Amino acid sequence: MELINVNQENSFNPTPKLKSSPIPIFFVSFNGDDNICIHCGEKYTMTLIYEQKYCKKCLSNYLTNMDNDSSKHKTDTRSGTVIIDNINMYLDVYLLKKDLECSKYEISETKVSQNIQECCRNCLIILFFKQIIGRYHNFYYNYQDLSTKYKNVIESERYCKLCGKLLYQGTDHYIMREFKLCSNCYLISSGCIESTLTKKVISIVYLPWWENTSDCYCYEKLVFTSNCQKYCENCFIFLIGCRYCLTTNIIFGITNQSQ
Ligand SMILES: [Zn+2]
Ligand SMILES: [Zn+2]
Ligand SMILES: [Zn+2]
Ligand SMILES: [Zn+2]
Repeated sequence: MELINVNQENSFNPTPKLKSSPIPIFFVSFNGDDNICIHCGEKYTMTLIYEQKYCKKCLSNYLTNMDNDSSKHKTDTRSGTVIIDNINMYLDVYLLKKDLECSKYEISETKVSQNIQECCRNCLIILFFKQIIGRYHNFYYNYQDLSTKYKNVIESERYCKLCGKLLYQGTDHYIMREFKLCSNCYLISSGCIESTLTKKVISIVYLPWWENTSDCYCYEKLVFTSNCQKYCENCFIFLIGCRYCLTTNIIFGITNQSQ
């Protein structure tokens, strides 16, 4: 089964506060079951919170390419590292910022950084990616070990970092620990589009995150056709990830390609 081409001209933008990356993002897989980087073959690293898998090497390459791509970067005179000025326009990511020299790897007096550019490349520790679905239970189990970091994250999670909206006002610790997406900045929408190939109207749901599940909503295993496309043989739904925006379109209503 091959994927149809859909006319995306009037496509909805599910993450209006983030810009589409100028270069594709290869450091995450569209299949959450993958343990080896689909792009370079390195083992994936887990984020400290929510256990999202990403490739350190590809992330580093991405940041380097962004440097080369952009004229808007500066060099940190103290560490000599190049700081990317505008990366936060593209990625919503929480980092652990280690203090001072990068040669020191002990995690002490850690601060949660919301700005990837503040971090030296060598001591880049990803707490979690906001644009990727996380696993709530892992956050809970690791809570005791890494409580300081998590408290910082929980504190910073009170407000949306993209628009400043208050996300949770209460004091319930279970809710506080939960992964939250701002309803101003992460929009879910649906609509109808015409397939350029079949000329049929098909339904589409725009998700504001990178839907890296390996199972369909019907619990069937999804069939991967590329590094950003998969479908369910049972329900005929297609999931198409955008490696520039880390968003996912779900397309319904395709019955048979050969028709
Ligand atoms: Zn890689
Ligand atoms: Zn927001
Ligand atoms: Zn299905
Ligand atoms: Zn996109």
